[in-house]
Amino acid sequence: MTSIVSETSRPVGRSRLGAVVLAGLAGGLVDFVYASVVFGLAKGKPIYKVWQGPASGWLGKQAADGGYASAALGVATHFGIALCMAAAYGLEGGAVYAVSAALRDAIADEGRATLLLDLRPDLSAEALARRLAKAPAGQSTANILRKAGLSPLEIGLLREGHGLDLAADPATMAARIKTLPIVLTAPQPLDRAISTAGGVALSAVDDGLMLKALPGVYAAGEMLDWEAPTGGYLLQACFATGAAAARTVLARAGRG
Ligand SMILES: Cc1cc2nc3c(=O)[nH]c(=O)nc-3n(C[C@H](O)[C@H](O)[C@H](O)COP(=O)(O)OP(=O)(O)OC[C@H]3O[C@@H](n4cnc5c(N)ncnc54)[C@H](O)[C@@H]3O)c2cc1C
Repeated sequence: MTSIVSETSRPVGRSRLGAVVLAGLAGGLVDFVYASVVFGLAKGKPIYKVWQGPASGWLGKQAADGGYASAALGVATHFGIALCMAAAYGLEGGAVYAVSAALRDAIADEGRATLLLDLRPDLSAEALARRLAKAPAGQSTANILRKAGLSPLEIGLLREGHGLDLAADPATMAARIKTLPIVLTAPQPLDRAISTAGGVALSAVDDGLMLKALPGVYAAGEMLDWEAPTGGYLLQACFATGAAAARTVLARAGRG
């Protein structure tokens, strides 16, 4: 059984604080893009509205009337939480859950897994390189990146992930922006897991979730061998499989 939460490594030669900051900012950024797209763009909702949500923890319902200021407070709160989680847990978030099984297997096979984060998923490498190439000669790397639309946070992440010397031709710089490496060395232990893989194989239960080998015995929730298939709605899946098993029990008792 394995946790779906992964822990960042400590990169050689860098401090633990640096690794935590990198993990926190990277995890926060992954979730920032995910939430902005899934709860904002995909629903035709302005992105700043999405980020008023976390600010409501401080401001209550007034967050919705606070415009960009409360959205900025929401974003700051989001990254603050991400940093705290990185300090306590390592890299975590809705988008990480989707790839955690592959990361866990790679760590088991090779002792480490490298997650490549695309900081500009909305632009092709070529379009990004063209944007970077527009910078006048003599500009600092930070300025070139900033003028290409990267935030100070993303520039900091690039320096952490690729090393301090980011200067390169536009094509190489674009490739680096689209492949920010985050090295992971271990999943969290079972007692810290939000969901677990392993358990009763789905092939061992019938459609009513009764064990084929032990009629009258049922499996539901985390007893089943699943890989957090619900993208975070685990309680829903546990309730649903519990209800399905209960219906089978009633049907077998002639009361369904
Ligand atoms: C920190 C954390 C945050 C989470 N956040 C969310 C979330 O926001 N949304 C979401 O959908 N899911 C979340 N989850 C996941 C969700 O809580 C679990 O998937 C869900 O609770 C699993 O339910 P379950 O009934 O299968 O197992 P459990 O809740 O683990 O229940 C199993 C029970 O069986 C008992 N038990 C174990 N062995 C025995 C035994 N031998 N005899 C008798 N009793 C036994 C245990 O004591 C326990 O009470 C979170 C999990 C964690 C750890």
